[in-house]
Amino acid sequence: MTAPGAARGPAVRVLPRLDGTNRFFWTSGEDGRLRFLRCTACRHYVHPPVPRCPYCLDGSMVPEPVSGTGVVHSFTVNHQQWIPGSDPYVIGLVTIAEQEDVRLTTNLVDCAPDDVHIGMAVEVTFEQAEDVWLPLFKPAEQLP
Ligand SMILES: [Zn+2]
Repeated sequence: MTAPGAARGPAVRVLPRLDGTNRFFWTSGEDGRLRFLRCTACRHYVHPPVPRCPYCLDGSMVPEPVSGTGVVHSFTVNHQQWIPGSDPYVIGLVTIAEQEDVRLTTNLVDCAPDDVHIGMAVEVTFEQAEDVWLPLFKPAEQLP
């Protein structure tokens, strides 16, 4: 925990409540892989986790790893200092590479808020807090 008034440090996170449907998602980062539920019948990914496929109402939903890459669909920069001295941070909506309608609300990290743009290539990075691995996104490594 960062002391009040500290200029920099880890963000204060409100952790999700884990249940039988979402536990795989919030603990997926333990092995460095991002996972989403995928329908065994129609093969659609679905997020947030639900017990039944909303596309075909047929298949069972099982967690499957994805590449962890995506693009910024939209974002906003928070300037309100909810904690005195805290830095502005970016709340992003990231579309995963595997399926255009699967989007994750997350924080964009490891880059200045002014450098974030819609369409920016990003990749997942995990921040562990207690028994949760929060999936955050950073600029994707560019191949030479
Ligand atoms: Zn389905």
